[in-house]
Amino acid sequence: MDKKGKVFLVGAGPGDVELLTLKAERLIKEADVVVFDRLVGEKVMDLIPEGCEKIDVGKNVGDHPVPQHEINKILLREALKGKNVVRLKGGDPFVFGRGGEELELLSEEKVNFQVVPGITSSIAAAAYGGIPVTHRDFCSSLHIITGHAKAGAELSIDFPALVRLNGTLVFMMSVANVGAIAKGLMEAGMAKDMPCAIVENGTRLNQRRFVSDLDNIEETVKINQVKSPAVILVGKVCSLADKFTWFDELPLKGKKILITQPQKKASKLEEQLRALGAETKLYPCIKTEYIRPVAVPLEENQILVFTSAEGVHSFFNWLDEAGLDSRALAGKKIACVGPATKKTLKDYGLNCDFMPTEYYGETLGKEMVETGFADRDTKVLLLRANIGSEEILEILENASIPFTDCKIYKTEYIKHENMPEFSNWDYITFTSKSTVEGFVKSMGQADFEGVKAICIGRKTAEIAAEFNFQTLVSKSATIESMVERIVEDI
Ligand code: SAH
Repeated sequence: MDKKGKVFLVGAGPGDVELLTLKAERLIKEADVVVFDRLVGEKVMDLIPEGCEKIDVGKNVGDHPVPQHEINKILLREALKGKNVVRLKGGDPFVFGRGGEELELLSEEKVNFQVVPGITSSIAAAAYGGIPVTHRDFCSSLHIITGHAKAGAELSIDFPALVRLNGTLVFMMSVANVGAIAKGLMEAGMAKDMPCAIVENGTRLNQRRFVSDLDNIEETVKINQVKSPAVILVGKVCSLADKFTWFDELPLKGKKILITQPQKKASKLEEQLRALGAETKLYPCIKTEYIRPVAVPLEENQILVFTSAEGVHSFFNWLDEAGLDSRALAGKKIACVGPATKKTLKDYGLNCDFMPTEYYGETLGKEMVETGFADRDTKVLLLRANIGSEEILEILENASIPFTDCKIYKTEYIKHENMPEFSNWDYITFTSKSTVEGFVKSMGQADFEGVKAICIGRKTAEIAAEFNFQTLVSKSATIESMVERIVEDI
């Protein structure tokens, strides 16, 4: 018989991808098949490797596209094929996650399994809502309760027992039944002014949190149109919510930002924006690709100039193809446009000899000439994109500095099937002239008037302004400075 696979029952945490355990991350990356739920965070899903099969068994309350017994069979079927199966579930797999039911069939069939606990939303959503689920001054127990009743049945909650326990109550799957829960607790003697809170989409960048008291909680849910997933918290600890609020007060919380950088570069900008609470979406408008240059006259040039990190990667690509390595650069000087390019060079073990005071190609050219870094007796090799701007060339030409403009990578615009709906976005970010052009091209005839565009420098802003964007320019041409500019605007 074929070797049986294994099933890993893995908690995906409450939504924020950084709340995933290291073990979960490793198993996701090693999986052949991932069987996932609706509650698994989008960024967690992004960790699933490309070749891995994804099976969606997501279910909404009251609407179960894949019945539980089918899910159990899917897990068994895939394991019997010899696959590494990750069963990925929101929060913790055993906290109202039916994890136990999923293991039964596997255990009967003697399929190997392992369980990876996850951070449960019952606690995490509270923490991100500024509520410590226990506190010595307020309670001595914590209770996690489902507020979901089986179809057609009444809620089966022992309200008097809960009231007597005097602890913190966390109700899950309870948005639809919040009225009945509040009524049940009050009828069992709980004070009407008992502090309560609702945390919707806890730990996610679209989290909303509302604080109320027991008497008004149903109304609060209705007025704010709270939707699942949300936890309802009842107990004195909720009185701390305003004092300890932190996540909802991050500087970019609630802001939606569209990122147009090429996919492989976007992570730094995206990470920084998300760390400040912004909701981001990647909409890469350009992609860059190495092109083999007709010739790279390495030997005869004394100065190498890099105007982007991509130029550095592509140059090393060429060097390798040519059967060379860094030793071929011995004795040469290196100039770069700014810190990101400098850092990339450093990653290849090279220091940079020259960087301009402002991170533009034009300034780079000007200052190389002004400082005498390059002169008539030095030959300069520019390693750039096929659509690099002309300014630096003109400056070198006017100073009679011999140079070769070597096109080592190409920039292409990306066509998208689904355009981002504009009115939904607070900001769009442009990290180069070509991202502006790529974006405009992808959007066809859209009107960009009033759309706030954060531009990496004035060159990029000039182009964006031509298309009617309302431009905000970062002080310096770095990702950090772009992020600062957005925060300043809030
Ligand atoms: N196993 C999961 C719970 C599954 S039951 C866990 O440990 O978190 C589904 C319920 O979990 C939802 O109805 C909601 O009450 C809660 N829930 C899941 N994710 C949530 C989130 N991000 N914010 C608030 N509540 C969430």
